[in-house]
Amino acid sequence: MAIEKIGIVGAGQMGSGIAHVAALAGHDVILQDVRKEALEKSLALIDRNLSRQVAKGAVAEAAKQSAIARISTATDMKTLADCDLVIESATENEAIKREILKALCPVLKADALIATNTSSISITRLAAITDRPGKFIGMHFMNPVPLMELVELIRGLATEEATYQTIHALALKLGKKPAAAEDFPAFIVNRILLPMINEAVYTLYEGVGNVESIDTAMRLGANHPMGPLELADFIGLDTCLAVMQVLYEGLADSKYRPCPLLVKYVEAGWLGRKTKRGFYDYSGEKPRPTR
Ligand code: NAD
Repeated sequence: MAIEKIGIVGAGQMGSGIAHVAALAGHDVILQDVRKEALEKSLALIDRNLSRQVAKGAVAEAAKQSAIARISTATDMKTLADCDLVIESATENEAIKREILKALCPVLKADALIATNTSSISITRLAAITDRPGKFIGMHFMNPVPLMELVELIRGLATEEATYQTIHALALKLGKKPAAAEDFPAFIVNRILLPMINEAVYTLYEGVGNVESIDTAMRLGANHPMGPLELADFIGLDTCLAVMQVLYEGLADSKYRPCPLLVKYVEAGWLGRKTKRGFYDYSGEKPRPTR
């Protein structure tokens, strides 16, 4: 099946990035979100990121302009009716994703595919809510989408081979390298990455180090491009917590227990970069450690 028009539900940091790469690859994109201000912010972000690519010589000005012209936005889900594929990239919360999928199915063409960008929730369980489990797949992009090459492709139990092949071909067309993962909690990257971030928060919680020493230690000692707390702020602390909860519940192993300090930050609404405060304070010119 040829994928031409792509719908994206959720215009947060990931939905914006997916819209950016899809439009640049020549697809018409409809970006849908319940919050109008999220859509406005998203368009401004896409424009800024494309301009950065133009300045670096990675993208031609004309290509930027046509990519922007291919993206439209909507708060009404009905606008997704003629999409060949909808990628769900809303908040990492199963109840929200269930509501979205229930509302989305009656709107779509019978042969439209649905992908979810969930970081951790079972693809098989989400597929079962839909009227088309065979046409449902996990398409897990990395953040920031325009820069990161990997896309994990996750088959649910019912995912048809044709769906997998179509999405595999699309991932290549978007300039990504697909890696197949089985449908187990958090798949491959987050199964390994998030327990490390959670352990970094425990290290902070127990006073083994402060924000700066933990991040410096992992940057210079493990040669990671970003420290784990810096990375947690970048991902979003709510998303980090949601993934740890899925691992904890899904694998029923106490080693995945979310650190109470991570829970506290999320309860305070200190979600990282997107709220300008997390393990660092982003209100000034340079990020300032908060502990
Ligand atoms: P975000 O908080 O930046 O954006 C989520 C967006 O979803 C918000 O704009 C919100 O208004 C919107 N939304 C909420 N309910 C909605 C609804 N009912 N209908 C339409 N839109 C709705 O989150 P994000 O970081 O972009 O994450 C989105 C998804 O991508 C999550 O499933 C997350 O696990 C996954 N993901 C995140 C990362 C990351 O590093 N942040 C990486 C890979 C995958």
